[in-house]
This record gives sequence, structure tokens and C-alpha cells, in this order.
Amino acid sequence: MFDKILIANRGEIALRVHRACREMGIKTVAVHSSADADAMHVRLADESVCIGPPSAKDSYLNIPAIISAAEVTNADAIHPGYGFLAENPGFADIVEEHGFVFIGPHPNHIRMMGDKLAAKSAVKAAGLPVVAGCDQALVNANEARRLAESIGYPVLLKPAAGGGGTGMKVVREPGAMNDALVAARTEAKASFGNGDVFMEKFLRSARHIEIQVLADGQGNVVHLGERDCSLQRRHQKLVEETPSPAVNAADRDALGETVVTAVRRLGYRGVGTVEFLYADGAFYFIEMNTRLQVEHPVTEMVTGIDLVREQILVAAGRRLDLEQGDIAFQGHAIECRVNAEHPVTFAPSPGEVTTYHAPGGLGVRVDSALYSGYRVPPYYDSLVAKVVVHGTTRNECLMRLRRALEECVIDGIATTIPLHLQLISSNEFVDGAYDINWLEKFIAG
Ligand code: ADP
Repeated sequence: MFDKILIANRGEIALRVHRACREMGIKTVAVHSSADADAMHVRLADESVCIGPPSAKDSYLNIPAIISAAEVTNADAIHPGYGFLAENPGFADIVEEHGFVFIGPHPNHIRMMGDKLAAKSAVKAAGLPVVAGCDQALVNANEARRLAESIGYPVLLKPAAGGGGTGMKVVREPGAMNDALVAARTEAKASFGNGDVFMEKFLRSARHIEIQVLADGQGNVVHLGERDCSLQRRHQKLVEETPSPAVNAADRDALGETVVTAVRRLGYRGVGTVEFLYADGAFYFIEMNTRLQVEHPVTEMVTGIDLVREQILVAAGRRLDLEQGDIAFQGHAIECRVNAEHPVTFAPSPGEVTTYHAPGGLGVRVDSALYSGYRVPPYYDSLVAKVVVHGTTRNECLMRLRRALEECVIDGIATTIPLHLQLISSNEFVDGAYDINWLEKFIAG
């Protein structure tokens, strides 16, 4: 087992990984930018190393500085968290080349899943259903129009190297194809350094359902149920829950089993999330994330399984000692992502948190690196806390969530808590009757 892990991340996820390490008796090394010298992850870790100036590209994305930090602190392994370098196969390669263990899948699996076209053909071959569309990057607008005719409008143009909901364009009629293709390629090139764009049927009303998997790369794979992440703004998740109000037990078991078989065929190791759109009773694969997800706590709440601990164990070469039959799903869990943003305009709201008080009590978990007097820097992602609640029923969960959000005090900056309070009171949310488009309409209305 590892003696010391370097955590190549910041904020709540750096803390989350630190906590698992502590409970496993593993020492931690925090890395930080000069803007994060007072951050909680730095305070809690056994050791810390400053890896550069505030800008992420010079610090949390600075591979040579991270490798040097691991060398000088004598770490055994590097945990990338999510975001930053977590899905960068080149980083995973370099980590291993320097003799450290990368706590994640084999770099080739990261590479394959990072290219959505390669990912779709690999999972299709492994038995997963995919959305109708093309297998190759689009060559020109004529070809795109021909393809769109055959699958039927509306269609969606997506960057092959995409992520974070960036660069997707809906095309509703042939006359709009040319401009949409040019715009999608330009955005894809600017955001991902790769202008390849492909096409999918645009599903007008779907839910985002994802399956959490855990695999040891030695043939043992389990799934930990689904998460419903349909509440999105600009294709970014805001609220997640499990179980999904829209998926019945038989469909969950069937999808879980299909995913487990596919993941075993791929020879995957680590934690992973296989994402689907669910429309008219059918599931369609959209992508696989080869890392821990922001929303992993809801799964932990209903299964009682520490995903980071399992991730570390399989990275250390341990066989999974869980079988599918050992995994029981108890009750219901919901997570609200609290961002340092204005709840109406969504303008970023960095600055000093004058008072911070986290909610508590039965069934409440808050993953956050905030403290009173902490200054939220303007340079990074706006997520500042995840308020997660567990209840025996969805109803109990909703009451508890309201209570927890009302208890939460984050003074000095604007947060999205008021939006969460509004949204969890809406009839559609209470009834579980929402799809991936609903939240945008709710915000606009
Ligand atoms: P990214 O990697 O950029 O997050 P995804 O492929 O995971 O992109 O899709 C993000 C979100 O975009 C989905 O959760 C869904 O809301 C929407 N989306 C993606 N593909 C489709 C599709 N074919 N039809 C309708 N909506 C889609």
C-alpha cells in the first residue's frame, strides 16, 4: 500500500481525497498555487509544495512542477481529483514514467474515452447502445447535411475532444448547417486544440442518467447504481440524485449489468462513470468519464462505499473485494452544487467569506474547503460547496435538503443557494418530472 500520496488538485476535491488517505493511514502532500497558500487543503495535508503562480496553467496544470513536488516529497502515487489533469493521458504517462502510480485508469483508457468518437466505437463494440450519428469527424457541410437527412433533424454537432458542455450546436434545418459547423469547429479548436466535430441525433427530451462503475483491471467489475444528473444549466450539472425518479429497478439492473459487461470487456481499471441519455424508455451512451465525478457523494450516501478508498486500493493493485451482490442501495440522496455565483445572473462572485457555517445533522454531508475568513480566488472553478443529503425516502430527502440549505451560511460572497431553494420547491422537481432542458426554462421563467 502507498505510504504517501500527492494530491494534484485544490478545493473540496483535494480535501475529499485527503480524508480518504487519512482514514487509510496514508500521508498526503498538497500542491498549491501562490493564490492558495491559505487554502484548507494546504492546511490539512501533511506536507505542501507551492507549484506556481495563480493561473491554473502555471500551477495546477504545470506538469513538471507537480512531478518535481512528488520527487522532493518522496510520494508514491499521484491522485488527480477531477478537472485539471485528471483526464490528461499525457500526464498519466509522465506520472508512470517517473515511477509514481497514477491513481486512475490506464492512460490508454483515458486517451480512448477522451476522444468521443473513439469512445463511442469502443463501447458500441463492447455492447453499449449509442445515439444515432456518425463514426468519423465531419468532413464538410454537404456530408453533414446528407447525414442529418438520414438521421432526421434536429441534430447536434459536438466536438470530438469535448468536455464541460462546451461547443455543442443544435441544427434544426439544412440551411443552418454550414454556419453551425464553422462555429462548432472554431469553438472546438479554441477550447480543445482539436477542431474535429461529429454529429448525433439531438434528443429533444431526455434525462441524463449515469452509471458508476468500479473495476480492478483483473476482471472484477461492479456498478454502484445510477445518478440522475438531468438538472443542468448550459450542459453543466447543478443538482444530482440517486436513485433516478425516472428509472425502475428492472431497468437499473439491466443497464447496470450491460455496463459491467462492457467495462469488463474493455479491461478498464479504477472508478469510472458511463453516461447515457434516457429517452422514450431507451438508454443511449454519450460518454465515459475516466475519473472521480463531482457528484460521487450521492452514490456513497446510498451504498456506504467510499469510492476514493476503493480507487486507491485498485490503483495499488488490490483485487476488488466487492461483488455485485454485496452492494445494497439504501434510501435516497441528493446533491446541490453551491457555486460562488450570483443566483440570478450567474456572474462569478469571488471574495472573502466573512462567515461560514456548514449545515449538519442526520443525513447531511457537506464537502467544502471554505472557512470563515477564507478568500475565494477568482482564478478557478466557482464550485465552493456540495450540500449532500440522504433520507430513507425521496420525500424525507427533500425536506432535509431544504432544512440543510436554509442552515447554510456563506456570507460575504453571492452563492447559488437561493436558486437551489427555489428549484427544490418547484412542482416539477418535487414530482421528479424534469428533463435536461427543464432547469434552463425554469431559470428563464
Ligand atoms: P460534455 O463532455 O461536453 O459534458 P456530453 O456528451 O457529456 O458533453 O453531454 C453533456 C450534456 O449535453 C448532456 O448531459 C446533455 O444534456 C446534452 N447532450 C449531449 N448529447 C446530446 C444529444 N445527442 N441530444 C440532446 N442533448 C445532448
